[in-house]
Amino acid sequence: MQTKLPESLLRTPVGQKADSILRACVHCGFCNATCPTYQLLGDELDGPRGRIYQIKQMLEGEPVSDKTRLHLDRCLTCRNCETTCPSGVRYHELLDIGREMIEQRQPRPLAETLQRRLLLMVLPHTRRFALLMQLASIAKPLLPKSLRAKLPQNSGLHSLPKPAQHQRKMLLLDGCVQPVLQGGTNAATIDVLDQLGIETIVAKEAGCCGAMAQHMANPGLAKQQITQNIDAWWPHVEAGAEAIISTASGCGLMLKEYGALLEHDPDYADKAATISNLSRDIVEVLEKEDLTPLARKQAAPIAFHPPCTLQHGQQLNGRVEALLSKLGYQLTPVHDKHLCCGSAGTYSIFQPEIATQLRDNKLDNLLANEPTLIATANIGCQQHLQSGTGKEVVHWIELLVR
Ligand code: SF4
Ligand code: SF4
Repeated sequence: MQTKLPESLLRTPVGQKADSILRACVHCGFCNATCPTYQLLGDELDGPRGRIYQIKQMLEGEPVSDKTRLHLDRCLTCRNCETTCPSGVRYHELLDIGREMIEQRQPRPLAETLQRRLLLMVLPHTRRFALLMQLASIAKPLLPKSLRAKLPQNSGLHSLPKPAQHQRKMLLLDGCVQPVLQGGTNAATIDVLDQLGIETIVAKEAGCCGAMAQHMANPGLAKQQITQNIDAWWPHVEAGAEAIISTASGCGLMLKEYGALLEHDPDYADKAATISNLSRDIVEVLEKEDLTPLARKQAAPIAFHPPCTLQHGQQLNGRVEALLSKLGYQLTPVHDKHLCCGSAGTYSIFQPEIATQLRDNKLDNLLANEPTLIATANIGCQQHLQSGTGKEVVHWIELLVR
């Protein structure tokens, strides 16, 4: 597509990146066919092609409004459009640029700004989030039904088992909300890796991966969290840790992007690239190991939901399913597997109607063939799906230690 970005912008790395992404887009609209918000809302401006066009106009200096911001806010960042696009348009990078710019050009109402700041002050901090969950469980009877459904049953700060020592070592990202909401996931990971002769290291000073801040157009805070993690992991990387593992595919995707996000940072560019190269989803680690000790003779049918960050972001589509089948699990067929469940980080908080509609559609498809449970690979999807069904939703790694 032809562009007319102002010279002043084209002289910056951000302007050059935006221009090259825009020029790669041929405006064919194939991406609209797999965009969940376009499918639900039927509005060109709520599909990827329309969003690309709105960002182009904003970058070219055209006026913007609250409506422009709303169409960008409604994007799930699921990247289904990137998987579909035949021209390899790096949509999410353009969206990051667009979201950052619209925050400056069309500031949000005060109440919205405060809500977003508050979330960023609490969610990425495990102890603060644990305290919030404790208070919420005390106040549970007084909360509206819709909020009560979202509260997890067993929240609280879970401590991890002490990993056994082995010669082979891998770092594990414990994350921010996962240790409070689903402490069993990383406990199971440590157990599985131990059975395979791998010692897990959890660096105490590492915390939130930075994805939440990055997607809420706060790259300054994201960078602070990224560099804190790099500093925490670096001594272990130098000592020979083989990989940095994530069990939340959203966080894993963010780790794989540290290199690109810090490519112009004189102090961290090289280290960030190394961290990204070492980052692995837990499935990428396990599929290279001999899993004989974990095989099942007979297992009840389960449905697997591949998070967008796993299938479209990390491009690991079908890998967990293949691994579980190899281990003896029976997977039920699921219609429209490529579509987002509506969780999308903080999306279900800011866009509850769309998020609920997508969740209910997803649950209908997941439950259609009567599985005994639903397995997934990201904490956000797990909690969001669980809020809409009485059927158990687990991280698949936990199945391996049951
Ligand atoms: S993003 Fe890709 S699929 Fe969508 S309009 Fe542009 S070139 Fe076509
Ligand atoms: S990231 Fe997802 S919701 Fe956003 S435009 Fe692409 S397909 Fe649509």
